[in-house]
Amino acid sequence: MPRPSPEEQIEFLVKIQRLFSEGSFVATYKFALLQALADLSVEKGDYSGDTLRISTREIAEKFIQYYWRQTLPFVSPVGQETSVLRQNTGRQAAVINLVAGSRQEYDGSLSRAKQNHRKWNSLINRVDIVVKEMPLWKLQTIGQEELAFLYENKREGNEIKLYSGVAYNFRLFHSLIQDLIQGAWLRHVRSIRGNERILGESADLREFLFGSERESLYIYRSFLKEIQSGDCFYCNKQIPGSGDVDHFIPWVKYPVDLGHNFVLAHPKCNNKKRDYLAAEQHLENWFKRNDLHFSALRQYFDEKNLIYDMESSRQITCWAYEQAENAKAHVWVLNDETREIGSYWKYLFTNGSEQLPRAAE
Ligand SMILES: [Zn+2]
Repeated sequence: MPRPSPEEQIEFLVKIQRLFSEGSFVATYKFALLQALADLSVEKGDYSGDTLRISTREIAEKFIQYYWRQTLPFVSPVGQETSVLRQNTGRQAAVINLVAGSRQEYDGSLSRAKQNHRKWNSLINRVDIVVKEMPLWKLQTIGQEELAFLYENKREGNEIKLYSGVAYNFRLFHSLIQDLIQGAWLRHVRSIRGNERILGESADLREFLFGSERESLYIYRSFLKEIQSGDCFYCNKQIPGSGDVDHFIPWVKYPVDLGHNFVLAHPKCNNKKRDYLAAEQHLENWFKRNDLHFSALRQYFDEKNLIYDMESSRQITCWAYEQAENAKAHVWVLNDETREIGSYWKYLFTNGSEQLPRAAE
C-alpha cells in the first residue's frame, strides 16, 4: 500500500481541522474517539500506509483510560466545592457515570479495576455500547455532509477499518493532532454550564484533564533504585538522594504511563534531558534493562498494581524514535550535549530486540 503523498497528508489535516471547526460537540466523546484512533494508530499501526482494523472494544478501553483520570473529583480553587466535571452540555455523559462508579469502587486504581476481569469486561461492554451509539458513526458527519475520510460509516458492527494512509497520518501528526484535541476538549469542558462555577478563572485545567498522575510515580522509586544498583540510568553515577523517576519517552511526546517507561535518574540529569528523547546508548540500556530484569519488572508491576504492557511500550518507543528521525531531531546525550539522531536505534529494534523475550499476553 503506498504511503500518502504530501498533498494527501495536508488534505488529511485540513479535514481533521474541519471536524473541529464545523463539527458539533455535545458530549466530549468525539474528542476521546479521535484521541483513541490516534493512539491506537501508534500502538497497533505502522508506517506502511496500510489500512488498520480497530475493534470498538479497543476504543472503549481507551475511553475508560482517558476518562478515568478526568472523573477524579475536581477540587475547586473558588469556594469549597468538589465535584466531577461535566462532560456533556445536557445530563452528565453516560461514560463518565460508568467510569466514575468504577473509579470509586477501586479507590482510583485503574490497574486494580482491570484485575477483576468479570467487572472490567462488563464495564468495557457498557462503554462499548455508548461508543457505538454515540460518537462512532457521528464523528464524520458535519451538518448534512458526510465526510468519511477516516473509516467507512457502516453504522453497525464491532470494528472499523481505518482507510489506507489514515494510521500513517495519525502516527506522523500525533502530537499536532493531540494538541488540537486537548485544546478543543479543554475549551468544551470550560464552556459547559455548571463547570465554570467549579473551575474559577485560574484552574490549571489542562494539567488536571491530561497531566501525568504525579503521585503514582513515587511508587517506582525504591524498586528502580534497587534494579539500577543505586546508579543514575543515564550517567551511571551513584544517586546520593532519592532520585527522580523519569519518563524514558517524555510525557509530552506520548502521555501514557506504562511501567516499562520509567527509569531513575539524578534530578540534574532529569532536568537536562527535559523533553528530549534519550540518545541511542540510553535506548540500548533501556533494552538491556528490560531484558535483564524481565521477570522482576513484571512481578513488581503486578504486585503494586501498576499498568504495563511490554509490547505497547516497545511500539510506542519505536514510534517515538521514528518520529525523531523523520524530523531529524536532536537526542539528549548527557549534561548539555545533544546531537542529531543517527540510525542505530533502528538496529536495536530490528536486531537487538530479537533476543528479548516478548511479553506473553
Ligand atoms: Zn545522572
